Formats: sequence, C-alpha cells, structure tokens
Amino acid sequence: MARLIDQFERLPGIGPRTAQRLALHLLRQPEEQIRSFADALLAARSQVGQCQRCFHLSAEPLCEICRNAERGNGQLCVVADSRDLLAMERTREFKGHYHVLGGLISPMDGIGPELLQVQPLVRRVDAEGISEVILALTPSVEGDTTSLYLARLLKPFTTVSRIAYGLPVGSELEYADEVTLARAFEGRRQVE
Ligand SMILES: [Zn+2]
Repeated sequence: MARLIDQFERLPGIGPRTAQRLALHLLRQPEEQIRSFADALLAARSQVGQCQRCFHLSAEPLCEICRNAERGNGQLCVVADSRDLLAMERTREFKGHYHVLGGLISPMDGIGPELLQVQPLVRRVDAEGISEVILALTPSVEGDTTSLYLARLLKPFTTVSRIAYGLPVGSELEYADEVTLARAFEGRRQVE
C-alpha cells in the first residue's frame, strides 16, 4: 500500500492525500481493471515517441497534426513542450503546424539553444516555406530569452510574432484558460 501511494506521489500535482485516495480507489477495482491500467501505462511508455518533424509526442513517425495536410497554412507555432501544444490545441484558434522546442533557453540551468530543437526549427522554416512563426512561450525570463534568440535567428527568413496579450507574467501556458490563451494568440505582435 505504501509503495503504491509513493508511486502516485511522484506524479506532478499529486499530494499525499490525493495519492492515498487514488491508491484506495485502485485497490477496490477488479483485478482485470488494474491489469488494463498497468498495460496502458507500459504500452504508452514503449510505443509513444517523438514526431520526427515537430517533436510532439507521437506513436507514428509523424504525429497526427503533421500528417494533416489541411494544417499546412504556412504558420508555425513554436512551443516549449507537448503540454503547451495541447493547451494551444484546446483553444482551437491555431490552424497551422507546431514545433516543440523541448524546453526553454536557461543559462542559469545550463540549457543553451544546442540542447533544444532549434536547428531543426531553422531548417523547417526554410524547407517548408513558413510565412509566419508564432512564438507561444511563457512570459518569463526564460521565455523572453528564448523568444528574442529565436526572433533574431529567424527574422531574415520569415515574419516572427509572439503571443502576449492577457497572459500574466510567469504564468504557465498549460494553466491559462482557453479564452485567455485564444486572446493571447489573436493579440500576437510582431517581434521587433
Ligand atoms: Zn508532428
């Protein structure tokens, strides 16, 4: 029991009480249910990898969004991770393709651009004839640093804008409600 609770507590956003509640709930389920839960976890771990083009989570070489030809509208939305991509998708505001960086530039943590999917981004902007890159990065020191870096790098090739409006400084995209995020997207400004 303690082992199970401990496993739940390792999950993001799960405190000791919730972990206990989940463990107790699971123990009341039929064995069949537990088995399919465990199978789903293992299958997800072994089958889900990264999309070769945008680096979003995907079980196929190309993710569902990259495979969707209707979304090739010349716009490319750059996000830090798959959670932020999913947050953008929930707004239903963006109809183009994405590029997942795999983090943000953070000199304090020793994370430079070479550790992120920056070079593939530059190649895509060129190869896919991208007309606008929309930076959807958190309004934080790391988000600002990364946005400025990418804007400088990409501006010779395309228009670069950044979502801004309505998002409080330091807020995580993932937790922004859909309306706020949709407005932030609409109110994007070209990076000078
Ligand atoms: Zn993809």
